[in-house]
Amino acid sequence: MAHLAPYPGMPKHMEPMGFPGERVENWQQKGVEKLGELLKKYRSLQVYLDICVKCGACTDKCHYYLGTQDANNMPVQRAELMRSVYRRYFTPAGKMFPGLVNAVDFDEETLQKWFTYFHQCSQCRRCSVFCPFGIDTAEITMAAREIMNAIGVGHKYSVEIIGKVHQIGNNLGIPKPALKGTLEFLEEEILDSTGHDVRLPLDQPGADVLLVAPSADFFSEPHIQSLMGYAKVFHQAGISFTISSYASEAANFGMFIGSYEHQKKIAKRVVEQARDLKVKRLVVGECGHAWRVAYSFWNTLNGPLDFLDPRYPAPQHICEFTHDLLQRGALSLDKEANDNYRVTFHDSCNVARATRMGPKAGGQFEIPRDLIRASCNHFVDMDEDTIHEKTFCCGGGGGLLTDELMDLRIRGALPRVTALKRVMESDKVNFMALICAICKAQFSKVLPMYGISMDVVGGVHQLVSNAIQLGAKKGVV
Ligand code: SF4
Ligand code: SF4
Ligand code: SF4
Repeated sequence: MAHLAPYPGMPKHMEPMGFPGERVENWQQKGVEKLGELLKKYRSLQVYLDICVKCGACTDKCHYYLGTQDANNMPVQRAELMRSVYRRYFTPAGKMFPGLVNAVDFDEETLQKWFTYFHQCSQCRRCSVFCPFGIDTAEITMAAREIMNAIGVGHKYSVEIIGKVHQIGNNLGIPKPALKGTLEFLEEEILDSTGHDVRLPLDQPGADVLLVAPSADFFSEPHIQSLMGYAKVFHQAGISFTISSYASEAANFGMFIGSYEHQKKIAKRVVEQARDLKVKRLVVGECGHAWRVAYSFWNTLNGPLDFLDPRYPAPQHICEFTHDLLQRGALSLDKEANDNYRVTFHDSCNVARATRMGPKAGGQFEIPRDLIRASCNHFVDMDEDTIHEKTFCCGGGGGLLTDELMDLRIRGALPRVTALKRVMESDKVNFMALICAICKAQFSKVLPMYGISMDVVGGVHQLVSNAIQLGAKKGVV
C-alpha cells in the first residue's frame, strides 16, 4: 500500500497547533534531533528500538498486514523504518558502517515511507500482545508522528480535528446552539417513544455527574442511540447529570499524533468543566481511545482528580457505571425487547489492551458482556483468537478514519469481518455491539463493502436503551 498516504496538513492546519506550517528547511537535521530528544524523554522508545530480536512472532498479527499483505505493515518491519534511522545516528556501528547494520539516512525516501506507513498503523497494540518482549509498535508510531509534526510534515485529518476541539470544544465542530438543539430534540424523541420525560441537560451546575461523550454521539447513527441509552440510565437511577458545551468531546486525537501537549490541553477542558460545574463524578461515554486517555492519563495530565467524590472511580466508564447500577438493583432490563437481535461483541482495542474497567482484572472484557447478556437473550462471542486482548482493530482507529484511506480501512477490517461472518453463519448473529465511536463509524462504512448491512452495528447502550424499563424510581442511589 505504498501509494496510500494520507493528505498532508497545510499551514492553516499546522500553524495553529504550534507546528511549522510546511517542511522546515533543515528538516533532516531537525528530525534526527527530535528523535534524539524523544529517546531521552521516553525511555520505553529507546528500549523498543534496542531489544527487538527479529523473532517474527508479530509479523502476521497486524490487521493491516493481514488485509494488505504489504511487508511494511508487518509490525517488525514498520518499527524497522524507525530502527534503521536510529541505528544510523545513535549507534556506533550505524555511524561508522551503516551498510553493514542496515542503517539508513533520514532522507526523502525514508520520510515518504514514514509518512505512509506510520499512517497505516492504528496504534491498536495487538502486535505487543504477541511480542515476547512486549514491544509496543503503537508507541513507535506515535513517536514517528511527533517527529514528523515537528518538521512540518503533519496529517491533515488529525491536526484539523484537534484544531476544532481547541476552538469549539469537539471534533465535529458542533457549536453550543446546535448541541442544545440536538439534546432538546432527543428529549422529545424519548418522550414520544416512551412517555417518559428523560432529560439531557447542558451546562447544568451542581449535577452529580459530568458525562463526557464522543461528539459523534450527538449527531451520528448509530451513536445517538447509545446517547439516549445513557440518558435513560441516569434518569432511571435518579442520578443527575450534565453534558458540557465547553468540554463536549471525549475523544482526544492528541494521543494519535503523539503529542503530550495537545493531549494535555484537550483533556484540560474536561477537568476544568468538572471543577467549574462542581460535579461529583466524571463518566466517559462509548469511545475507545477516549477511555484510554481518560483511564490512563487524566489523573496525571491535569489531575489529581481528588476534588471528585472518592466513593466512585474517577473517571468511570459508562459501562462500568450502568453495570454497577444493575448490580445494585437500580435498573430493570427486559431482555425480550432485543429478541430481534442475535448479538456478538467487538472488543474495542483501545479499551481491551490499554485500560481496565471496574475493580477486577479483565473487567474491560466482562462488564460490557455482562451488560449485553442482561439486555438480550441471544449472545455469542466471536472466535477466541479475535476477542479480549487478542481483538482486532476495526481498521479505522489511530486517526485513520478519513476518506482518502478508505482502501486501507476496508482491508484493515478484514480480520474482524471474517470473524463476524463466521458467527453470522453459525449463530445467525445480526448485531455487533460496540463501545467505540470510531468503531461504529468505521464499521457502518466498511461492512457494506463486505456485503453486510450497516444496521448490524450498534452500541452496547443501544441494547440497554431498548431493554431498560422506565418507571417508578427504585431510589437505590
Ligand atoms: S499497533 Fe496495531 S496497527 Fe500498529 S503495527 Fe501493531 S498491530 Fe499493526
Ligand atoms: S515479536 Fe517483538 S521481538 Fe519479535 S520481531 Fe516482533 S517486535 Fe521484534
Ligand atoms: S476505532 Fe475501535 S477498534 Fe479501532 S483503534 Fe479505536 S478502539 Fe480500536
